[in-house]
Amino acid sequence: MKLRKVSAAAAAVVALSITATACGGDNDKDSDAGSSGGKKITIGIKFDQPGLGQKTPQGYAGFDVDVATYVAKKLGYSADQIQWKEAKSADRETLLQRGDVDFIAATYSITPEREKSVDFAGPYLLAHQDVLVRADDNSIKSPADLNSKKLCSVTGSTSAQNVKEKLAPKAQLQQYPTYSACLTGLQSGAIDALTTDDSILAGYASQAQYKGKFKLGGFKMTNENYGIGVKKGSDLKAKINKALEDMVADKSWDTAVEKNLGPAEYKNEPAPKIGDVKS
Ligand code: GLU
Repeated sequence: MKLRKVSAAAAAVVALSITATACGGDNDKDSDAGSSGGKKITIGIKFDQPGLGQKTPQGYAGFDVDVATYVAKKLGYSADQIQWKEAKSADRETLLQRGDVDFIAATYSITPEREKSVDFAGPYLLAHQDVLVRADDNSIKSPADLNSKKLCSVTGSTSAQNVKEKLAPKAQLQQYPTYSACLTGLQSGAIDALTTDDSILAGYASQAQYKGKFKLGGFKMTNENYGIGVKKGSDLKAKINKALEDMVADKSWDTAVEKNLGPAEYKNEPAPKIGDVKS
């Protein structure tokens, strides 16, 4: 009896370690983008950006999620063949280079710097860098006012880079791993403003729990051309570009914008032309 118990426990340990390997091991990743047939595709998205990429108790939602799902379908993968993976701003290039994801749709701006290590399809949305401040704060009237402020942004983002290089080099910039972490600081008063794309900020400001607490500056400080990141040299780029063109042509793009960015009353730019990256 005792012996049986031990072997059952040992079997459980073996079973557990097999499961862990199958779930986490890169070698076991069975995605093979471009040729489906019961296989999976792994897509990197944000998990904490309402309206764009969000993990909710009901599943994954947002404009990036809808764009990625549409693209995956055109590549031959149904929605239940998609494996979603969190792609934080600072991790995106590495995730692609290591092959941990097949592509990334995560408010990922196309930049010459990033194009040295990854390729981009798109763009599929044009956003602009802005600031989010507490609703009762009237001291930030222009980007220059940020120079005397405690500003929060995210490591590895163009938003943080732009602050340091040109927008407000004298600001006290704090870099957090995610924008949702910045939000907590903005609410408590630990920071004065959160800066990133207006598309992301609009999503936060419209959340039920934050209603009336925050407001956007409306500064349009930069152009952020969202692309779909792929591994450098990947033949997925051309296929994804074709899928994005289809998405605009058949109006699925408009539907996805309306559904995901409409509730935040985000004033979106028209669908960009493939390859038209605004500087
Ligand atoms: N679009 C900008 C970027 O790619 C800011 C948003 C983000 O960090 O995802 O860096």
